[in-house]
Amino acid sequence: MTRITQTPLYPYARSPDQDAAQPPRHPVVIIGAGPVGLAAAIDLGQQGVPVVLLDDNDRPSHGSRAICFSKRTLEIADRLGLGDRLVDMGVRWNIGKVFVGDRQIYTFDLLPEAGHRRPAFINLQQYHLEHALVDRLRALQDAGAQVDLRGGNRLTRIEGHPDHTTLSIDTPDGPYRIEADWLIACDGAGSACRDMLGLGFTGQTFEDNFLIADVTMRADIPTERWFWFDPPFNPGQSALLHKQPDGIWRIDLQLGRDIDREAEMRPENVMPRITAMLGPDVAFSLEWVSIYRFQCRRMSRFRHGRVIFAGDAAHQVSPFGARGANSGLQDADNLCWKLRLVLAGDAPETLLDSYDTERVQAADENILHSTRATEFITPKSAISRTFRDAVLDLATRHAFARQMVNSGRLSQPCIHDGSPLNTPDALTGPARSRPGAVCPDAPLGDGYLLDRLGHGFTLLALGSDAPRLEGVNMLEMSDALTPELRARFLGDAAHALYLIRPDQHVAARWPRADAATVRQAISRATGHTS
Ligand SMILES: Cc1cc2nc3c(=O)[nH]c(=O)nc-3n(C[C@H](O)[C@H](O)[C@H](O)COP(=O)(O)OP(=O)(O)OC[C@H]3O[C@@H](n4cnc5c(N)ncnc54)[C@H](O)[C@@H]3O)c2cc1C
Repeated sequence: MTRITQTPLYPYARSPDQDAAQPPRHPVVIIGAGPVGLAAAIDLGQQGVPVVLLDDNDRPSHGSRAICFSKRTLEIADRLGLGDRLVDMGVRWNIGKVFVGDRQIYTFDLLPEAGHRRPAFINLQQYHLEHALVDRLRALQDAGAQVDLRGGNRLTRIEGHPDHTTLSIDTPDGPYRIEADWLIACDGAGSACRDMLGLGFTGQTFEDNFLIADVTMRADIPTERWFWFDPPFNPGQSALLHKQPDGIWRIDLQLGRDIDREAEMRPENVMPRITAMLGPDVAFSLEWVSIYRFQCRRMSRFRHGRVIFAGDAAHQVSPFGARGANSGLQDADNLCWKLRLVLAGDAPETLLDSYDTERVQAADENILHSTRATEFITPKSAISRTFRDAVLDLATRHAFARQMVNSGRLSQPCIHDGSPLNTPDALTGPARSRPGAVCPDAPLGDGYLLDRLGHGFTLLALGSDAPRLEGVNMLEMSDALTPELRARFLGDAAHALYLIRPDQHVAARWPRADAATVRQAISRATGHTS
């Protein structure tokens, strides 16, 4: 068990709301102070939206959950003001290796290109991430932001109304009620909000069991993701090894379907498995042991009137590909600027339907990748196993078969092709920066482009004149376009103008555009016109 989870980080404290004669009304209430709820609270709080964040616990989640946080998550964390802290604490990595038996069959590099501020991934225990998020939230509170994190507050009932919800909350001092104009449900895979509204999931449940052992050891192994199919130390199954901070390593061993979970978790059964993997000469101690199974599934819609679902409450995937928390943070990133505009009266409520459209699309993409990886790693039928084993056999001898090996395609942000917020592409430019994609990063001056985008809309002009528009951040680059800027934004084009959304996704791009054209694109990206 880890040290950091022992003390309450946000202990229960009585709120004035508990003594109010009538349930007080709040613009936004978030249920769940996991990574997603915390990120949403920080995002809204730092943009001046008052938030109440309720959690039935009083400290970060303990034990072995997420460790791999993607480049996109780090870029979102930069915008939220804690990217440096996460990267300083985490273990950076870009390289993965895949083994079949005891033979390495290929290596992949998730960020072969230079000129990005953040690495492809860091490994960092989820409790460290949550701790850093709570610290950031406290710093915002100290600076005057109205972000009220209430530990020991368990949501027990939701009453839906056309323009608000009424929430019943249990505390150590007894129950009380509040109202929310908007409720964001970030209460995790077992979401009470989902159950209370009678909403379900569609998708698949997988029967295979995986043993997680976080072990402390000194090992001369590079900081890479290592994945084995059918390793000699776990025959017929798979294994995964990742380095974490604090001298801890994550070992993930597939155990199969019909197992005695309680027996498998006993140290006398776990230790020999780890020794078989590491060799008899490596001294280690067990930090944490658990067994998990998983689902690949989602709610049919993420917006239900005044209640909006995000993170594991809305969708779940297998851990292969590290798409759970990473995609949940992208939900928050997508939602918060839209909600801020709606609350300020600067966008119609229907803008929030685009959250549903875009994040359902992302969830489907994640579920597809995750399901494919899971089916490859744990074939469900004799025929799939025969196919999988034939691919692995071929891959040990022939390069062409290696691209068919799937040990988990790692989390990438979804490109929102077809989003109603996109203006049709008017530039023959690089596909990776087309409308719907996350704006690529690139070196800029003595810093990086993404850090210059701010919280609103940005007009990025590359060798092109740009119209002046009130309330729009301008980034003009006329001379000395670097090779990175040319490759990532121009391709064969001589000049370009990009409109970037507050969540750093590209809304529109043109070779040139006048003020009316840009205004129209902003209008579309804020749900005013389609
Ligand atoms: C073994 C394993 C490995 C993983 N590895 C990765 C990885 O490497 N990368 C990755 O991105 N993801 C990974 N994940 C997934 C990741 O852990 C989850 O996706 C992530 O925790 C989801 O965050 P969340 O904020 O949506 O929900 P949670 O973290 O589950 O938080 C929900 C919060 O809601 C609170 N809550 C629940 N009910 C109530 C209520 N009634 N009232 C008030 N509060 C309530 C809970 O106390 C909790 O704090 C992994 C998961 C597992 C199991």
